[in-house]
Amino acid sequence: MFRDHLKLRLSGAAFAIALLIVSGQQPITAQASLPTIVVLATGGTIAGAASTNVQAGYTSGQVGVDQLIAAVPEAKKLANLRGEQISNIGSQDMNDEVWLKLAGRINAIVAMPEVTGVVITHGTDTIEETAYFLNLVVKSRKPVVLTAAMRPATALSADGPLNFYNAVAVAADKQAVGRGVLVVVNDWIHGAASLTKTSTTAVQTFLSPQSGLIGTVAYGKTEFYRGPIGKHTADSEFSLTGVTALPRVDIIMAYENMDGALIDAAVAAGAKGIVIAGVGNGNLTAAAVKALAAQAQKGIVCVRASRVVTGVVGRNVELDDDKLGFVASLDKNPQKSRVLLRLALLKPHTAAEIQRIFDEY
Ligand code: ASP
Repeated sequence: MFRDHLKLRLSGAAFAIALLIVSGQQPITAQASLPTIVVLATGGTIAGAASTNVQAGYTSGQVGVDQLIAAVPEAKKLANLRGEQISNIGSQDMNDEVWLKLAGRINAIVAMPEVTGVVITHGTDTIEETAYFLNLVVKSRKPVVLTAAMRPATALSADGPLNFYNAVAVAADKQAVGRGVLVVVNDWIHGAASLTKTSTTAVQTFLSPQSGLIGTVAYGKTEFYRGPIGKHTADSEFSLTGVTALPRVDIIMAYENMDGALIDAAVAAGAKGIVIAGVGNGNLTAAAVKALAAQAQKGIVCVRASRVVTGVVGRNVELDDDKLGFVASLDKNPQKSRVLLRLALLKPHTAAEIQRIFDEY
């Protein structure tokens, strides 16, 4: 019913996505002079659809990869595009199965000599986590660029088509080589380690608040300012070879009057690591510190991050991390800390060794 209604709405619209819908395999005729970019679609609002072009409600992951590519014919002038559908989900449902599949596909694709780079379409909710995960496990210096949209493909002033075009331009640009996994949204090029979502609804939602942008891209014209922060991709020590599951790490937010109940519950649920989204400089109540230190004593890796959007969480500032056995997240927000800790915990490490990892990545 919804889909029929959608088709009707779209059939009357001038929006390019509807006019250029294709089926089956890629319609693109390869041009030898152009770089080859592989587009991996995972879903999200960039592939979302609503029943009218002016409504807030919509469903993520309705448009397939071929339609996404066909909706931006200008991108075919930048590169030969090949599409693959990895998943078609809202990124609030992103999960380890998709992550492992995506990382495996990217590593296989970037090993192909004819491929210049990869573009991944994704939802905005968890793009910062997927980007950082890929930044740590993709073994290549070739550009890997994620993009997304805040407005569904059917909306007035949809932001997806230009974001996609710009992402292809960045992935095809030699200057993007060796800068780690990048995220291109709303004309800005972010590093995977630095960006975070800051608005639930604004088109200008992504910021790299602590360390700034890698560059900008305006209608495909790139300008790069600097490299990413932290070790990444080809220099990363993390590998997914033989990995079929990632260790459980939970994030617990600190708040007024916090006790240790959720900390203990996380460990009871199987967490091998805990990230605290602390108040201020990674702080938490004395009662919660006591519970966390008791878990650290038992070998659970406990990372202090912050619920505050900017600034770093320093080691041994208001809490004695050395004595309590904690790890300070430094410049990583809670969600990035969780990704890094999950990968670090693939091998046994002491808290001191995990702190070294947080220093380097
Ligand atoms: N919930 C959507 C998602 O992350 C939001 C978006 O893509 O903007 O998939």
